[in-house]
Amino acid sequence: MTLEERDLKYIWHPCSQMKDYETFPPIPIERGEGVYLYGTDGKRYLDIISSWWCNLLGHCHPEIGAALRDQVDKLEHVIFANFTHRPAVELCEELVKILPEGLVKFNFSDNGSASVECALKMAFQYMHQTGHPEKTRFMCLSDGYHGETIGALSVGTLDLYAKLYRPMLMDTVRIPAPDCYRCPYGQTREHCRCECFAAAEACFAEQAAETCAVIVEPLLQGSAGMRIYPPLYLKKLRALCDRYGVLLIADEIATGFGRTGRMFACDHAGISPDIMCLSKGLTGGYLPMAITVTTREIYDAFYADYNEGKAFMHSHTYSGNPLGCRAALAVQSILKKESILEKAAGTATRLTALMNEAFGDHPHVGEIRHIGLIHALELVEDRDTKKGFPSEKRVGYQIYRRALEKGLLLRPLGNVLYFNPPLIISEKECGTAVSVCAESIKEILFEKGV
Ligand SMILES: *Cc1c(COP(=O)(O)O)cnc(C)c1O
Repeated sequence: MTLEERDLKYIWHPCSQMKDYETFPPIPIERGEGVYLYGTDGKRYLDIISSWWCNLLGHCHPEIGAALRDQVDKLEHVIFANFTHRPAVELCEELVKILPEGLVKFNFSDNGSASVECALKMAFQYMHQTGHPEKTRFMCLSDGYHGETIGALSVGTLDLYAKLYRPMLMDTVRIPAPDCYRCPYGQTREHCRCECFAAAEACFAEQAAETCAVIVEPLLQGSAGMRIYPPLYLKKLRALCDRYGVLLIADEIATGFGRTGRMFACDHAGISPDIMCLSKGLTGGYLPMAITVTTREIYDAFYADYNEGKAFMHSHTYSGNPLGCRAALAVQSILKKESILEKAAGTATRLTALMNEAFGDHPHVGEIRHIGLIHALELVEDRDTKKGFPSEKRVGYQIYRRALEKGLLLRPLGNVLYFNPPLIISEKECGTAVSVCAESIKEILFEKGV
């Protein structure tokens, strides 16, 4: 049996219709290096999506590998209740230096969804313990994504992931999200005054009294199709939260650590959330780890004599795992030492130019949007009406398969194709990716005739 056949005998792959694998079996990968993955058959793939957005500095980075090899022979894991270790402490000391002001208390978990659950429970309990037991609800943006567990799905509003499970989920307040490509006010992202923020104001006026927190993906709604909204929106939201006594949770799981061109998306707006969720790039994509970071003020609301029952009784077996912390420390060291963000900014400018050249006049590219190195193409049937391709045609999926044949790993979100590469990608590699992407689009949309 081939490895693919042995795989299909047992493995139920994530976020997949397994029947698709009949004609398109899983691709066995042997090794990775930099922006490339190598199949067991020797075929090379340019990983333009950072292997599900987590690989920050390239595959098999020698320095992260060395840190992990050193740590694995020292301490692989220890219970984090009442115990600690050097890598966790040092990691917090490093992160405090780069996080928005005021975020100084770190609660560790082991994946993004878990860090969101932690944030929700923390916000709820904070209100309960500070004289606001009536504040029990959550607000979120439409088309938001915060993970797959029940709490995270409740504040997630993408029907694709959440609809079926609604009877299991909390009832949350949805604020209609900014939609800059199809702006109902006829404005553009660069010049508007966030007229659409009126929807948030209306929701707060009506619901804030019973709301403990609002959770958002700052600036970039990733899973919604890399939808980008202006920093001003976030600034206004911070002010609105302060006015109504609602906590602001920034889910920076996808946007953190330089993805948007600044260290955190919140930095573009110059705001500090009350709670921030971190994962994905945190360990450079090496190990599953997440952190829910919060303020001294929130932390203090849980600080009391044991018998007052105010402790945050929330834990995960792998909280503060030393291997994850060591990988994350290596990532921080590389980011700083090699001026990764500065270099990535240069690459991003070049990538934008390449994208504009290749797709600026493309009849089926409705919008090229970008923030940091993240670049997305929204494919539409008609540029003037902005009408999308019907989802049954699976245009994005077909282009994905075609691009893979050509050695580019380009996983789409519906009809949105995007690049979210490791920050160390070169301009030359960006060029290759753009031309393979362009060829694949051409072959599927024009030659095959969708
Ligand atoms: C990926 C992601 C999550 C969920 O993280 P997992 O580790 O997959 O559970 C939550 N929020 C955002 C914005 C994400 O991109």
